[in-house]
Amino acid sequence: EVKTNKYIISREQVTGLLKPRRKFSHKGTYGHALLLAGSYGKMGAAALAAQACLRSGVGLLSVHCPKVGYVVLQTAVPEAMTLPDTEETHLTQLPDLNIYQAIGIGPGLGKESATRNLVRQLLSTTPAPLVIDADALNIIAEENLQANLPAHSILTPHPKEFERLAGPAANDYHRLELLQEFCRNYQCYVVLKGGHTCIGTPAGELYFNITGNPGMATGGTGDVLTGIITALVAQKYSPLDACCLGVYIHGLAGDLARNQIGAISLIASDLIENLGAAFGQLS
Ligand code: AMP
Ligand code: MG
Repeated sequence: EVKTNKYIISREQVTGLLKPRRKFSHKGTYGHALLLAGSYGKMGAAALAAQACLRSGVGLLSVHCPKVGYVVLQTAVPEAMTLPDTEETHLTQLPDLNIYQAIGIGPGLGKESATRNLVRQLLSTTPAPLVIDADALNIIAEENLQANLPAHSILTPHPKEFERLAGPAANDYHRLELLQEFCRNYQCYVVLKGGHTCIGTPAGELYFNITGNPGMATGGTGDVLTGIITALVAQKYSPLDACCLGVYIHGLAGDLARNQIGAISLIASDLIENLGAAFGQLS
């Protein structure tokens, strides 16, 4: 039985959330985000998350990536600072985490054993709120680290990643019950992605998103969402506000992109190109 408050995320709600850009603000005002992302052959995921993060208003962005991603990121995303790992193909060591307001981890990460240790270490030592996606979620599931999640972390699984974390769902309704249970148990926010993305909260509420379209069923769109939400957390939006605004703006950018080039041809970078127009519609 689902006992909870359920909400649909409205345009009015998210418009009211947007923080104005003040005249005498500077990049320090908007937070410094860190992304831990990428591995050999998957640096595109890191680049997409980084570009989306920068287009979502973050003041500064650093990306910690394997050596193989250094030139890739400095070239594809010159606005981001790059912190290369000592290892060539995957992440093995955490950088100093103390200067960041938000840490996003997962896009293109891979699941090497040293990377598994890095995820474990991050969960137990992070000084900043976490946004956790993709292979970081798969590592947490495979290593049974759910109970190590810092309270108020944000997780962004698609349904398969969610079921690895929470167990198999018999149907869509059961999956929502598992979502509530998981969020209550681990006091975290889970963005369960799909045709109607649903955000679960530690209090057991569910927030449904109504923007977005099937053109977004293409590689890299989830990495874009990770970058957006990480940027919003760095700007001191509450976890719930970052999740609601993040999924709404991500879907709205997808709808604008679909209107321009159509659902069939839509690719993840089209979402990034439309973030400015999407934020503009809410301002
Ligand atoms: P991922 O599976 O991690 O790449 O994430 C896919 C992203 O695309 C999520 O934000 C989903 O909500 C979105 N998405 C995928 N399929 C659809 C769909 N049919 N309608 C709307 N959004 C979708
Ligand atoms: Mg993904």
